[in-house]
Amino acid sequence: MADIIQLLPDHVANQIAAGEVVQRPASVVKELVENAVDAGSTLIQLIVKGAGKTLVQVVDNGKGMSERDMLLSVQRHATSKIRTAEDLFQLHTKGFRGEALASIAAIAHLEITTRQEEDQVGVQLKIEGGAIGDTKPVACDEGTSIAVKNLFFNIPARRNFLKSDTVELRHIIEEFQRIALAHPDIQFDFYHNNSELFKLPPSNLRQRIVNVFGGKTNEKLVPVQEDTGVVKISGFISKPAFTKKTRGEQFFFVNNRFVKNSYLHHAVSSAFEGLLKPGYHPGYFIFLQVEPSSIDINIHPTKTEVKFDEDQAMYAILRSTVKHSLGQFNVTPALDFDRDANLDTPYSYENKAPQLPAVEVDSNFNPFKEDNKGSIKVKSYPKHNKVEASWESLYVSMDSGDDYNTVSIESESSSEELFSEQETDFSATTYQLHKKYIVTTIKSGMVIINQHRAHQRVLYEQYLKNITVDTGNSQQLLFPLELKFSTTEMELLKSIKDSLERTGFVFSEMTSDSIQVSGMPLNISESDVGGIIDQLLADFQQEVPESSLSQSDILAKAMCRTLAVKSGTHLNTVAQESLVNNLFATKEPMVSPFQKPIFITMSLEELDKRFLE
Ligand code: ADP
Ligand code: MG
Repeated sequence: MADIIQLLPDHVANQIAAGEVVQRPASVVKELVENAVDAGSTLIQLIVKGAGKTLVQVVDNGKGMSERDMLLSVQRHATSKIRTAEDLFQLHTKGFRGEALASIAAIAHLEITTRQEEDQVGVQLKIEGGAIGDTKPVACDEGTSIAVKNLFFNIPARRNFLKSDTVELRHIIEEFQRIALAHPDIQFDFYHNNSELFKLPPSNLRQRIVNVFGGKTNEKLVPVQEDTGVVKISGFISKPAFTKKTRGEQFFFVNNRFVKNSYLHHAVSSAFEGLLKPGYHPGYFIFLQVEPSSIDINIHPTKTEVKFDEDQAMYAILRSTVKHSLGQFNVTPALDFDRDANLDTPYSYENKAPQLPAVEVDSNFNPFKEDNKGSIKVKSYPKHNKVEASWESLYVSMDSGDDYNTVSIESESSSEELFSEQETDFSATTYQLHKKYIVTTIKSGMVIINQHRAHQRVLYEQYLKNITVDTGNSQQLLFPLELKFSTTEMELLKSIKDSLERTGFVFSEMTSDSIQVSGMPLNISESDVGGIIDQLLADFQQEVPESSLSQSDILAKAMCRTLAVKSGTHLNTVAQESLVNNLFATKEPMVSPFQKPIFITMSLEELDKRFLE
């Protein structure tokens, strides 16, 4: 048989290599920004469009490339960073494989513009799917700009595999944050679809963390510091009181490179042992400096995993360093698991006397009063009748003692199907199951309602209405609340200030890094304010709204997500009834604002059938 083995052409080999290096737009961001760091830049700008699917561009003021180097840079295994295999054990750069640009060039449209300090003019090169164009001279600043357009244009399967813009942008932000945290001395600017997401001036590490994660982060941080023969440890951990249910803010950097290492993570977590509520995670920003030769970062193609020679020693040192910091900063004794975590927030109301949360229902309610024993009647009114039972009734005490027995609901199509036209006797027909579901009867059988989602729907529609149609009521705060934010967060807040005010917030002052809240919507408690605004900022950072409509939508979603009663909350009968009625008065009682089903029904027929078996 004839010989059949052939060497693959370069462009095919590069496409295959690209599969490992470039999984998504965020991988391009990582490679380009790391190259800019390696080039000794002090200012790096990241410009992204369409969550990186349309454009990822990195502009730096680093050392630039000669024309020859530029042409070589897009060849596979072409690198200026190592020369011999031994160099692999003395790495001081982020890159070393010489694969990134070649891989990216194989699967996207690439445009490199670069100028070295000593050159009068720069050079430019365009490559489309591996086809290298001619170089041409251009006038440009010192440094390098690399633009990557139409990622995966020649591999539709990969392009289709990409997630929504929201998800891809989140991955990009993650990569960006990892590099920005590792290099606080470099200025980073990040724009997405022409709006500025981050502007991080050169600073120390603490300030960089605060600029990335917002002003309130500052008070959460406890420094860690240790210098042994094996490793030098520096950075910050979060105070136990500020630990979160998400694993968001957990960063290890080994020799300034972000790494994931479950063993080290375990060391930190175990130092927090006994200080964390179950299900809560510590936050940390820990930098380890070790001899480059004592680690192997070569075990993973995208280089986020690391192996230490002396990993057991590393574990012990790290654990005791973190424990020491927790003890030294006296954060241990103040801990009390049953304390309301909201009271630990760093905001200025912290020092004020606690207030009862406004979730009490009808303090005048007297179960022995004859009137109250009556049935709750749900009437079906014709369409367009005004909804009297507003969403507030879930939380607000209803002083019109007798009246609340009859709650009217708007008869939208879906509620018509569920409830009979006639008055329905609803006496004692709601039942809360495991503090999570509300079970109630309907004409045809029964309905099981997810209380959290139901309340989300009710609040969502209410807030959306406030924002878009009429203004919500506001309660004045006795002492204005001051909240701190990063400059980027403040920019965002300013852009949504009007909408926020329509929901009932009143901001008496806005500076470049703080706001004063002097009024807030009814039915939310002061301790919720920080949480709502945090949620809001997180949502807006992930999903940069294109129109004011989607802005209102994000706002209403953030508020309902934070404020809706959670599973695990006991609701008394009045609150249960009220929630059920309010739910079926909404426009879309079937699905939550996050497109999850709110209730399921089971007909008598179905029940009967099951008993036949
Ligand atoms: P690696 O970073 O592993 O060396 P890359 O494919 O990422 O491989 O880059 C290839 C080479 O191109 C680098 O070694 C560097 O010499 C050059 N290069 C890439 N980006 C830049 C930049 N922004 N500024 C200066 N040189 C760069
Ligand atoms: Mg590189």
